[in-house]
This record gives sequence, C-alpha cells and structure tokens, in this order.
Amino acid sequence: MTNDTGSSAANVTKLAGTPGSRDLAMNIMNTMEQGILVWSADGLCELHNTRVFEVLEIEEGALTTGTRRVDFLAAAVARGEISQATAEQTEARFTNNRAFTFDRLMPSGRVVATNARPARGGSFVVTFTDVTEARKAADELDRARKAAEEAETRARAALVTERARQQEARLLSELDEWLQSCKSLDELYMVVRKFMGSTLPGSTGELYIYSNSRDVLDGICEWSSPGLHDHIAPDSCWALRRGRAYVHDTDRICFTCQHVTEQEGQDTDIAYICVPIIAHGDTVGLMHVRLAPGVGAGEEDDVAAGARAFAVQCGERISLALANVKLRDELYDQSTRDPLTGLYNRRFFLDAMRRLIAQSDRTGQPFGLVYLDADRFKTFNDTHGHDAGDVVLAHVGEALRDACGDDHMACRFGGEEFALLVSGADLAATERAAERIRARVADTDIRYGNTVLPHITISAGVASFPDSGRSPQGLIKAADGALYAAKDAGRNCVRTHKA
Ligand code: GH3
Ligand code: MG
Ligand code: MG
Repeated sequence: MTNDTGSSAANVTKLAGTPGSRDLAMNIMNTMEQGILVWSADGLCELHNTRVFEVLEIEEGALTTGTRRVDFLAAAVARGEISQATAEQTEARFTNNRAFTFDRLMPSGRVVATNARPARGGSFVVTFTDVTEARKAADELDRARKAAEEAETRARAALVTERARQQEARLLSELDEWLQSCKSLDELYMVVRKFMGSTLPGSTGELYIYSNSRDVLDGICEWSSPGLHDHIAPDSCWALRRGRAYVHDTDRICFTCQHVTEQEGQDTDIAYICVPIIAHGDTVGLMHVRLAPGVGAGEEDDVAAGARAFAVQCGERISLALANVKLRDELYDQSTRDPLTGLYNRRFFLDAMRRLIAQSDRTGQPFGLVYLDADRFKTFNDTHGHDAGDVVLAHVGEALRDACGDDHMACRFGGEEFALLVSGADLAATERAAERIRARVADTDIRYGNTVLPHITISAGVASFPDSGRSPQGLIKAADGALYAAKDAGRNCVRTHKA
C-alpha cells in the first residue's frame, strides 16, 4: 500500500522547479479542497493530488501517473457517474483545447463539478470540486423563487378574478335597479336592449316572448343582432325543450338549436347561450346570446366561462323583472278592467272622464259621452239563460272595442249597460259614433253552442262636454236622460241630449 507522500512523490515527476519546491507545491495541492489532475497532451495522467481519490470516491490504485484518460473516463461510466455519451463527448472536448465543465453524480449522491482548462503544450488541468451543498442550496433557492413566482401569479389571478366578480356584481345590481324601475314591458325591453348591448361588449342577442296562443315565441327585441326572427317555434330551441340554460360550445359535441341553423345554415359552428325566461314558474320567453367572437367558448377559457355565467345571471334577473311587470300589469288590469268583456270598469272610466274634463277645460276641445243599454235583456236571459246572456254581453263589448280608435274609450258601466267617451267629438260626431255601434250590434250573429242566438239590440243616449254638462255626474245624467228617450222611442235607436 502506498502512503500519501509516497504516491504524491510518484505523481509529481513532471512538476517544474527544484525537488524541494516541487514537494512544497505538491504538499500545497494535497491540502486543497479540490481534487486536481493534469492530463498530458497524449491523454495520460501527468500528476494528481491525493484529494482526488476522496472527491471522486475511488481507490488510490485507480489513478496513477500514466493512467490513460479513456480508461479513467470508462471507469466513471462503469460506476454510473457519467453516461457513455458524456464520456465520448468529454474525450472529444479535450482535443479542441477549450475549457469546459460538467457535473458528476457520485454513487454516494454527492455532486462533483468537473472543470477542465487547457494548459501549455496541449495538456489539461482538471479540478474536481464537491458542490453537493452549493447545488442543494441553489436548488432550494430556485424552488423558493419558483414558489414565490407561482404565489405571485396566483395572487394576481385572484385579484383579477375578484375585480371581475366585483364588476359583475356591480353591473347586475345596476341591471336590477333599472329593471325594477320599469313600469311597462316596453320599458323593460328597452332596458334589456341597452344594458345587454353595453355590458357584454361585442355580444349580440335576441329576446323572444311566448305569444298569447303559446304556439310560437315572438321576436321582441335584439341588441346588435342582424337576425331577430319574427317568430320561433318552442321546440326549435334546446333550452326551451330542456327547461334550462343551454350553452352551445364549439369545442365539444353539441347540437345546434334549429332557430340558429335556420339563420346560419346547417353547418354553423358558433358559440352561443340560450336562457329560458321563467316568470313565476312559467316559461314566458327565451334570451339568445352570442358572445364576442374573441371570447371563445372552451371550458378552460375562464373569460368565456365568466361571460357565459354572467349572461345566464342576466337572464335570471330579466326573468324576475318580467314576472314582476307582468304581475303588475295583471293586477292593474284586474283593478281597471271588466273580466267578462275586457273593457275598462266604471271606476277607471269615471277617472278618465275627470281627466278629460280637466283637459278639455284647458284646451276648449269638446268630447262626447254615449250611454248604452241592452234592450229587453231580462227577457233574453229568461229565454236563453244567463250564460247565453254573458256571451252576448261579451260580443257587445267586442263591438265597442272595435269601434274604438285612439280617441275612444269604452267601459262596461255595470250589468248590461255600457259607456263610451269620444275625445274631440261634438254632439253630432258622438251621435254618429253611437249609431255605428248600434247598427253593428243589431247586425251581429252570435253563436252559442250549436245554435245561433237571435240578434239583440241596444239603445244609446248621447251627451257632450261642455254643452250637456261640465261635471261627470251632469254628463252622465244628460246621457242617461237621452237613453230613456231612446227606450221610450221604441229601443234600438240613438237619442241625443237636448241642452
Ligand atoms: P230595457 O230594454 O228596458 O233595458 O229592458 P231590460 O230587461 O234590459 O232592463 P232591466 O234593467 O229590467 O233588466 C236588465 C237585465 O240585465 C237584468 C239582468 O238579468 C240582466 N243582466 C244584468 N247584468 C247581467 C250579466 O252580467 N249577465 C247577464 N247574463 N245578464 C245580466
Ligand atoms: Mg239596464
Ligand atoms: Mg236593458
């Protein structure tokens, strides 16, 4: 077995200087942390220090002066410290006289950095440094830096999401506020059009509402959409068929609604959302939204998913508002209309007459009042039954409604009595309006079950503001007086109040 000094002495044969200074240089090299090795130009070990055995975890006999570099590298490959490819690459690098470096992963798990630098005359000085701790620290530092970067990215994303959520919440509450202040369906449709168009930039959309017959949905309003259908069939939409919002994606298997293919053709491939509008449990319509082309519809696309969810939430808000406006309309109708004929009721009519008097007082414009009463209706009921009488009263209501233009207002005053206001009309014009209605009723065939009922007639009394009176009571009294005159005259005729 060779001792340290012995082997060192054997390995410094080519070290320059006096033998004393060579020993000193060798001693200094042996005290260094790094393993040091010099390869001659022809690839043989010229010298090495003792530290090289420890750092490279090799037996002392495994490397001596004269060891061939190719054998030395082959041994490292055999120990699994470097790959065959690295060994070949390394051998090649020694030939082109440039410094290079690579790491060896030692069997013990330590990492040894190998630095080769060309020296004079084609030889190479190679140092082996144990960098296990340094690499570990660098790895940890790298991991910590990556973790910090990821945390920052997550925090930024969370901030963006939170801001988007706040913005959506603000927009939805704004939409709610507008929708709740809508007094009519027309106002509500206007809010939908303006709001949806500006809050989902680049989106287009359409709103459809079931017709009264419920066999089709009518196109009501659109925003930025080039193709609002006049009508669509309920079964042409998957959302209506399935009773819930339907998201049509372009990147998964989806079936396109027929109302879309009718517009775009069979081969269409566009992303859209259909949201049923449900009011008080009843489906009353459909909102169809197409997001801006840039906003893809892939599941992984947060922006698109957010926009879709937002559109669905808007649809829910619109549903609720629509339900409220419809309910308010129904309640208003119930409080102002007669259910049998659909005409205004007496209370609403009297209010309207008061407003018309105030207006006519200001403008000096006349208006007419017609008071109408079905002739011998008690007998009609006794003969054909009360239900048949109701059918007849509904027809009289229809005749009155048909006779009404924008300047007319008809009401069922009570029982078989009706009244009509004709704004801007004097006595003569009002009389003509009354005569038209009388003639129409007298001419109307009314079916009841399988039979056609005998024609009924009405009598009418005509009065006008201001000639016949200036108050509701005065005018009604005057028209009622004229009506009595018509009854006295044999019924089925019109009589006018004589001032
Ligand atoms: P006249 O030509 O003098 O007006 O004779 P009339 O029988 O119509 O007059 P009267 O006031 O005696 O009778 C009114 C009848 O109208 C009594 C009632 O049976 C009938 N009537 C009132 N309200 C309704 C209703 O809502 N439905 C039906 N079917 N009949 C009604
Ligand atoms: Mg009567
Ligand atoms: Mg009567």
